[in-house]
Amino acid sequence: MKKSGTTIFDNHGRPINYLRLAVTDRCNLRCFYCMPASGIHYLPKKELLSYEEMERLIDILGDLGISKIRITGGEPFLRKDLIRFLGRISKKEPIQKISITTNGVLTEKYIPQLKDLGINSINLSLDTLDKDRFFRITRRDEFATVERTLNKLIENNFDLKINMVVMEGQNTQDIIPIAKLAKDLNIGVRFIEEMPFNGVGKTGKGLNWNHHHIRKVLADEFDSLVESPNEPGSTSQNFSVKGFKGNLGIIAAYSRTFCGSCNRIRISSQGLLKTCLYDDGVLNLRDIMRNGQDDNFIRDQFLNAFSRRAIDGFEAERNRKKSPEIKESMSTIGG
Ligand code: SAM
Ligand code: SF4
Repeated sequence: MKKSGTTIFDNHGRPINYLRLAVTDRCNLRCFYCMPASGIHYLPKKELLSYEEMERLIDILGDLGISKIRITGGEPFLRKDLIRFLGRISKKEPIQKISITTNGVLTEKYIPQLKDLGINSINLSLDTLDKDRFFRITRRDEFATVERTLNKLIENNFDLKINMVVMEGQNTQDIIPIAKLAKDLNIGVRFIEEMPFNGVGKTGKGLNWNHHHIRKVLADEFDSLVESPNEPGSTSQNFSVKGFKGNLGIIAAYSRTFCGSCNRIRISSQGLLKTCLYDDGVLNLRDIMRNGQDDNFIRDQFLNAFSRRAIDGFEAERNRKKSPEIKESMSTIGG
């Protein structure tokens, strides 16, 4: 089905080859930077995309040049039959890489099956190494479980990244301890600027802990911190440290320094296409499919959306129509 070598470029000349697919909006943690303590209003299951609908979109997008998929959510492992779905999409010829972002609570038992499927790239969200702070941040007592998952992923040689959201007054004391995990372990540690996708909206605090601030903390601690060349499409500015097996990276998710090479699109659990994290959905794929449109029509809708992409996250934010103020939860978007 795939025309090999297909590459679609957006209206700013950026190739689009990476899909982040949220398979659920449900979560078993309540990270305060992602959702309120009471959780979010979960959509009825019939309003979420079915696996069949997701597969259909993946087939169309594979034909358009999408070769890499990150499975996210919500917590992906909460969606029933995820492994079977992964098995099916991992067989699709255009899809060369599948990776998963997970909070690590339910992940451990699926490690052998992921290995069997050849899925060995995991981003594990871990904002602190302190059990009590973990509880304050996630509002759930699951630190020991996540730590066990971390160890199991390392034992099984997964290509592992740790995602740490840096939050003023919450976990900045964890930056260096988490960075030091990359000394003896061949893993990536990614420090992420906090964004207002928390289900509530802007806190009015501003972003004191931006990428400059995080970098200074790392540079003050590690004399030999050296910037590495960026991989194409990477949102992370990476660094090496002498004597470290792994590497460090900073993701300026709120400062949006990386938009010039953005190669990614998102499909939310309810089937909204986002061509930028900061837009409020440019196409309702679920309704288009459920209205009986054929693949050619959907393909043209994708191409149309790719030809109207905002140049950066600031323009995408200004263009928001349905909900001008950002306050949706990352859990519904797919982080
Ligand atoms: N539940 C999974 C997890 O936590 O890894 C996957 C979904 S989660 C929404 C994906 C990523 O988004 C996580 O690494 C999380 O830390 C990050 N995230 C969530 N809310 C965020 C926010 N307000 N600012 C920055 N990153 C956020
Ligand atoms: Fe759940 Fe991930 Fe959001 Fe935390 S960041 S509440 S684990 S979806």
